[in-house]
Amino acid sequence: MAGGAPARRPRVRLPDLETPFTINPDGSRNFLHPADVRGRWQARKNVVYTVLIAVYLALPWIPIGGHPAILVDIARRQAFLFGGTFTSEDFWLLFFVLSGAGFALIVLTSLWGRVWCGFACPQTVFLEGVFRRIERWLEGPREARIRRNAGPMTADTLWRKTAKQAIYVALCLLLAHAFIAYFVPVGDLLRWMRVSPGAHWTAFVWVAMMAGLLYFDFAWFREQVCLIVCPYGRFQSALIDDDTMVIGYDVHRGEPRSKANEEGGDCVDCRRCVVVCPTGIDIRNGLQMECVGCSNCVDACDEVMDRLGWERGLIRYDSTHGFAGARRRLLRPRVALYAVLGAIGLAVAVFSVASRAPFDVRVLRTRGMPYAIEGKSIRNLFNVRVENKRSEAHRFTLRALPPAAGAPAVQVVIAQPEITLDALSDATVPVFATAGLDAYADPFPIGFTVTDEGTGAVRAVELRFIGP
Ligand code: SF4
Ligand code: SF4
Repeated sequence: MAGGAPARRPRVRLPDLETPFTINPDGSRNFLHPADVRGRWQARKNVVYTVLIAVYLALPWIPIGGHPAILVDIARRQAFLFGGTFTSEDFWLLFFVLSGAGFALIVLTSLWGRVWCGFACPQTVFLEGVFRRIERWLEGPREARIRRNAGPMTADTLWRKTAKQAIYVALCLLLAHAFIAYFVPVGDLLRWMRVSPGAHWTAFVWVAMMAGLLYFDFAWFREQVCLIVCPYGRFQSALIDDDTMVIGYDVHRGEPRSKANEEGGDCVDCRRCVVVCPTGIDIRNGLQMECVGCSNCVDACDEVMDRLGWERGLIRYDSTHGFAGARRRLLRPRVALYAVLGAIGLAVAVFSVASRAPFDVRVLRTRGMPYAIEGKSIRNLFNVRVENKRSEAHRFTLRALPPAAGAPAVQVVIAQPEITLDALSDATVPVFATAGLDAYADPFPIGFTVTDEGTGAVRAVELRFIGP
């Protein structure tokens, strides 16, 4: 035998329905090396991936109405979404936005299966659209990668793997900063990056944690996120039915498998559909939870059919009914129900955002002192908090309302009848109400108004004057 470490023989194991292909029988990881594939679905995915990555990186940098298109400024408890400004008081709106988006995803799944997973999920977009491409570029096609991993560590292998890991680390740091830019204004983030980490420990720890997680995911864990961690794949069997478009193998056309020059079905058992699969399954075994709907096997099989001069579509997008030769129904009761629920969630969110008050007023009675008696007078003290929810400064005026008919005379003194609030800021104004002790019998209403002088919007506030 020649000198040097003997090459390890690759184990041959075929995907089945009983065990996850990415885990070996001894519990070790079966690291996948999906083959490269070209075709019409890959071309479409490339466009979608490019657009989504560009949008992800650009959104915090695009100003709309003087603020980033998306910024959730946790430190200042403010959020800017496509020109709208929100404060922590608007947090409840998130429920309707998320429930509407959740139902939209459910509708999408019941119509087109896991199209989200294959085309738009950030895990797929970055893994397939960026990290695997770098791996292929540096380490070559599937066969070369398998040979390299099974062989000894040569100088060529070492530099390629080192370069790959170095690029991965740099990319993960970039993506982590891009993620943090959704929570910290980009101006601040750029300034923080130029000073010592100790000056902004919290942001530094978040970026480091995020970059570490991304590196673990994209360099090693990969498809295991979809197979083990993500709950959505497990939901899909409850969301799809026989009319849902899925990626499947046409058993009637493909079986029995045969060689191209033999009598039999159209599947020539070349296993191209298996080696391109990023989750390592054989779609010819039927629809499986591990299928992320990436369409690699569709393009791979179409390529084989083209070479043989046969009709494309042995593996294709179709419904279970379609594969059985029956007609597919697009609109079914479950799709209509999911769509209605999603539309309700989104409509409530849109309506709530559109009808939000430009400012908020809250009144608190001074704690521990419901009233005070001073000589022949009773005094109530309130703290009025006015919050400007606009992204520009506004002037507000506070005016006492005349007493209700039959109510005792009361003198209302507003400490600051006029205030100017900066964008998304608030202020608390003390309000004193004094009534004669002799005239007081029962609690009675008093009130005042807050007017936004910029928009003319008025809020009337009613309080209870109380005494002994
Ligand atoms: S079976 Fe086909 S569509 Fe499903 S994950 Fe594998 S390659 Fe992608
Ligand atoms: S790529 Fe098509 S022909 Fe080849 S094994 Fe898969 S289904 Fe059969």
